[in-house]
Amino acid sequence: MDICVILTYRCSSKCSMCYVWQNPTKLDEEVSINTLKKIPSGIDYLNLTGGEPTLRQDLMEIVDLLYPKAMTLEISSNGLHSERLEPIIKKYPAIKIRFSLEGCESTSEKIRGEKDGYQKKVKGLFRLKELGGKDLGFSMVIQDDNAEEAVELFRFATKHGFEMATSTLHNGFQFHKSDNVPYNRRNIAKHMGDLITEMLKGYNVKNLFRAYLNLGLMAKVLGHDRMLKCSAASDFAFIDPWSDVYACNVRPDLRVGNLESQDWNEIWNGSSVKSVKDSVYNCTHNCWMVGSAKTAMRHPKYVKLPKAGPLFWVIYNKLKIMFGGEVDFKRYINYENIYKDEQIVRRKFFLNESVQKKLQSKSDPHYQMCRKVFNK
Ligand code: SF4
Repeated sequence: MDICVILTYRCSSKCSMCYVWQNPTKLDEEVSINTLKKIPSGIDYLNLTGGEPTLRQDLMEIVDLLYPKAMTLEISSNGLHSERLEPIIKKYPAIKIRFSLEGCESTSEKIRGEKDGYQKKVKGLFRLKELGGKDLGFSMVIQDDNAEEAVELFRFATKHGFEMATSTLHNGFQFHKSDNVPYNRRNIAKHMGDLITEMLKGYNVKNLFRAYLNLGLMAKVLGHDRMLKCSAASDFAFIDPWSDVYACNVRPDLRVGNLESQDWNEIWNGSSVKSVKDSVYNCTHNCWMVGSAKTAMRHPKYVKLPKAGPLFWVIYNKLKIMFGGEVDFKRYINYENIYKDEQIVRRKFFLNESVQKKLQSKSDPHYQMCRKVFNK
């Protein structure tokens, strides 16, 4: 199974599609090493994220603890403090590191509210490569303001031996967001289609399956139904900075326990998980979050292998591209059936803006504004 640990809601970026940075956690209330010790061994994929995980002074200690427990350990970072990852990469060169980058310099800095962020993260990733990093890359949230730069960023990443992960706008408690709605669904999907074609031109197996993952993003952006059933609370879970355990990072009502006050087995074999699994089965959110999409694509028993559906799609479309054909989008994508939003609120940008942050306490009621949000 996969676990994602949101180590903190403190963050040094000021993104337009994630308001974690406006709602930081108190340092002394964030999930502790003693609590993290309760995460079981034998995890397939463990992601350390935030907020910005490198703001945790004890990150090295956390990695020392969790690296042996997982087949793959990823740190998802904004890349603004890459020097803090240098000792980690020296010790664990195979650790997976992704820096958020939203396109070219001006686009990325506008979306992420990061002055000089582009230079810092690109230089930082090259430095980690020099130090021996083996699984380094960027991650991009494809949206109206950067969709047309997705192919260019992918080419830049592959040219330099980096990976490029993609996602798209979602509302969810992890982002403290309720207005992440695309303005022009057709246009974003079109650029995602171009990215899929580009990924299928190469021979990197990861990128071939990322092409399928992007097909799911394309379907999500157009408002089509999820391509594969969600397996939250069965195959993956999220732990928030207050040690609360959730089935996913979208719905705050899918809480299954608290790792500070309970043991993992007590939570995972408890009655809450059983009822949450029913809610997941009947979930009507049209989400394609990376966590839920990746696990849904995977063979349930042989986790290194894909399910038959994604595998056949990849083989069929790779062969089509190899022999001069085009990707067969028609089976999954219908441009005549695009979801029409009732209300679209324009997202704000915060580069050079100063915003008053509101500290969140462990005892506060959490995620109130996310209880009624929806993803279509
Ligand atoms: S489909 Fe529902 S349960 Fe699954 S990740 Fe999305 S919001 Fe959560």
